[in-house]
Amino acid sequence: MFRVALDTPLRRLFDYLPPDLPEGAVGLRPGMRVRVPFGRRRLVGLVMEVGDSSELPAQRLKPVLEVLDAAPALEAPALELIRWAAEYYHHPVGQVLAAALPKLMRLGAGVTATEERWTVTASGREAAAAGEPRRAPKQRELLDFLLGRDGAAPAQSLSGNLTSWRDAARALEMRGWLERREVVLAPVAEPVRVRAAGPTLLPEQRAAVERVAAASGGYAAFLLEGVTGSGKTEVYLRLTEEALARGRAVLVLVPEIGLTPQLVGRFRERFAVPLAVLHSGLTDSERLAAWRAAWSGQARIVLGTRSAVFAPLPDLGLVVVDEEHDASFKQHEGALRYSARDLAVVRARLAAVPVLLGSATPSLETLHNVAVGRYTRLRLLRRPGVSQPPLLKLIDLRVSAIDAGISTPAALAIERHLAADAQVLVFLNRRGYAPTLLCTACGWIAPCRECDARLTVHLAAQRLRCHHCGADAPLPARCPQCGFAVKPVGQGTERIEAALGTRFPGVPIVRLDRDVVRRRGDLDEVVRRMSSGEARILVGTQMVTKGHDFPNVTLVVVLNADQGLFSTDFRASERLAQTIVQVAGRAGRGERPGEVLIQTEFPQHPLLVSLLERGYDGFAEAALAERLQASWPPFSRLAALRASAKTPDAALGFLSEARAAAGAPPRGLKLLGPVPAAMAKRAGRYHAQLLIESHERPPLHQFLDGWLPRVEASRSAQRVRWALDVDPLELF
Ligand code: ADP
Ligand code: ZN
Ligand code: ZN
Repeated sequence: MFRVALDTPLRRLFDYLPPDLPEGAVGLRPGMRVRVPFGRRRLVGLVMEVGDSSELPAQRLKPVLEVLDAAPALEAPALELIRWAAEYYHHPVGQVLAAALPKLMRLGAGVTATEERWTVTASGREAAAAGEPRRAPKQRELLDFLLGRDGAAPAQSLSGNLTSWRDAARALEMRGWLERREVVLAPVAEPVRVRAAGPTLLPEQRAAVERVAAASGGYAAFLLEGVTGSGKTEVYLRLTEEALARGRAVLVLVPEIGLTPQLVGRFRERFAVPLAVLHSGLTDSERLAAWRAAWSGQARIVLGTRSAVFAPLPDLGLVVVDEEHDASFKQHEGALRYSARDLAVVRARLAAVPVLLGSATPSLETLHNVAVGRYTRLRLLRRPGVSQPPLLKLIDLRVSAIDAGISTPAALAIERHLAADAQVLVFLNRRGYAPTLLCTACGWIAPCRECDARLTVHLAAQRLRCHHCGADAPLPARCPQCGFAVKPVGQGTERIEAALGTRFPGVPIVRLDRDVVRRRGDLDEVVRRMSSGEARILVGTQMVTKGHDFPNVTLVVVLNADQGLFSTDFRASERLAQTIVQVAGRAGRGERPGEVLIQTEFPQHPLLVSLLERGYDGFAEAALAERLQASWPPFSRLAALRASAKTPDAALGFLSEARAAAGAPPRGLKLLGPVPAAMAKRAGRYHAQLLIESHERPPLHQFLDGWLPRVEASRSAQRVRWALDVDPLELF
C-alpha cells in the first residue's frame, strides 16, 4: 500500500496498490513520483508513506499506473520538510508539494538530466562501409559525421555542425542504421576548488566562523548580526568553503535575486564549483535544470529566493539566510503562505546541520529567539577599513523651511558633501512623481476605481497609475468633474529627482526605483553610474538598501520617516527602524565617516529617540517591551483567516460564519474580528480578516486542526477566496 500526495484541496493522502507491472513495486519507496488514477483523471503524485493496510476496502483500491522515478525525487529531510510545512501551515500536503516542485517535475519530467544521443548501429556501419546511402547526400553527411566521432553524438552537437539533419536522422532510423536514445547524464564529481582566497578574517569574523564550524555536526541556529559592510558575506563564504571541503552542499537564501547580484557574483568568484540559482524569473526549463543540478548533487551551492528552501540537496551541510528580516521571505499571496526563513531553520533541524541567519537589523522574532536561548548571537561590530559608524541626526520639519520635500538643513548638507567631492543618497519610499492628483477648485482627487487608494502621478510617462492593482490611465490636464486645472500634490522619487536637478544644476543625478529598473541591465547601469562616480546624487526607494556598495556616499537623507510611526499594523515601526538603519548603512563605507539626516514631524517620537540614542539594539529592546505589554508576537501566536470577495458582505459573511463555527474558543485563545482590511477594496475585491491569537503555539494548532475542516465545509466558503495565514507578517 502506497500513500500518495496529490495536488488536490483535500487534506489527506491517497492509498494505492502496487503497480500491475512485471517488475511490480520493486524499489518503490517514499519520495518517488507515480502516476495514479484519480476519478477520471490521471495525476502525478508523490509517495509519502508505505503502509500495510488501508481504511478503504481492498476492492476499491486501484494500483499505481506508472512509477516515474528510479530514485526518490525528494530525499527524506526534504520530504519531512514538506510534511512539516503542511502541518504547520494547515495546508493540504499535495498542494505544499506542488508549491515545492518545479512545474515540469509535476508534469512528469525526469529528475535526472538527460541528453538525446544518436548512434550508428552495426548494420549502419556495414551499410556505410558498402558505400550506402548512395543517393541521399544529407544522410550520407550525417552518417559520416557520426562515424567520424566513433559512431555517436548528442543532438546538440549535430545541430551545431549540420543543417537540417533531423529528416536525414529519421530516415536512417527507419532503415535501422541509426538509433536515438535518451542518455542519463551522470553528475560530474568536480573537485571543490577555491578560485580566490579571501582576505584575512578580522577577529570577530574568525570567531563567528569557528563557532558555526564547530557546530557542523548537528543542528544549531545562529544569528550573524552586523551592519552592512561589516563582513557578513565573507563569513558565509568561509563557512561555505568549510562545508564544501567536507563534501557537503550549501543552501543560501536571499530576499530577491535581482537586487543581490553582487552576492551571487561573490560566490561565483570565490568557488569554482557548479552553482544553481533558483528564483522566480526563471523559465520552467531553467528551473527544472537548476533543480536537477541540485538533486543530482552536481550543484554544490544552491542560491535562491523563497521557494529554493524546498530545493533537493542530498548532502546539505549548511543553510544561510541573508537579510533574514526581509519581508520577501514571506509568501503572503496565494493559498500556501509560508515563511522561507522559518522553513530554512526547520530544514536545518531536519537535516541536522547549522543554519546562519544574517542581518544588520534582525527581526524582533529572531532577537527574541536569541533572548530565550534558541539561537546563538554572533556579532560583527567593526567594518573592515572603517572606524566610525555613521552619525544620525533628526531634522524637525515643523521648524525647518521646506521646498519641494527637501528641508533647508538637508539641502545645505547636500551642498557641503558635494563640495567635498563625495556622493549623496536621498531616500524616499514612494515612487512616481506625486502620490495625489488634486483639483484645486472642487477638491476632486484622482481615485483608483478598483481600490481604496489614490492614483499616483507619473509625470514623465504622462500616466496615472495605481500602485496596488496596476490600473493605468492617461494623465488628465483638467479636472474631470469641473474642468478646472489639476495639480500633483506630494512627493515621489521622480519629483525629488527633478527638484534636486533644479536646486543643483549641472550635478548628475540618478534614480533607483521600480519604474527605472524595468529590465535586466537597468539596475546595472544605475549601479555603474554611481560606482564610477559619474553620478553624484542617487535618489531611490527601498531598492537602494539592497546589496550595492557605494563607498563614496557620505551623506544619506531620509526624506520622510513618518509613514511607519502611526500605523495600525503593529509591525510598521519595526519595518521603519530597519529601513532607516539599512539606508543609513549606505553612508560612509569607505574611509570617510557618514552622516545621516532624517526628516520628521515627530522628532520626539519614542521610537525615533531610542533608535537615535541607542541604535537598532536600543530600538529593538524598546519595541520588544512594547510587544510584550500588548501581547503581540513574539509573545503570542497569530493566525489570520483572510477572505476576499466581490462584495464586502460576502467576505465578512464568510468570516462571521467561520467565527460561529469556532464556538467558544479554548482558554488562552482569542478570536478578533472579522474586520474589513485597512485598505478594504483592492483590485476590485473586498478584503477582510479574522485574527486568531493564542498565548502558546500548541493550542493554536490544535484549534486550527479542528476548526479548518468546518470552515472549509461552510456554505459561504465556496463563494469567496480565502486562505489561512499562520504567523502573518502584515495585518491590513
Ligand atoms: P556584509 O555582507 O556585512 O555587507 P561584506 O562581507 O560584503 O559585508 O564585507 C564588506 C566589504 O569588506 C567587502 O568588500 C569585503 O570584501 C570586505 N571585507 C570583508 N571582510 C574583510 C576582511 N576580513 N578584510 C578585508 N576586507 C574584508
Ligand atoms: Zn474640479
Ligand atoms: Zn488600484
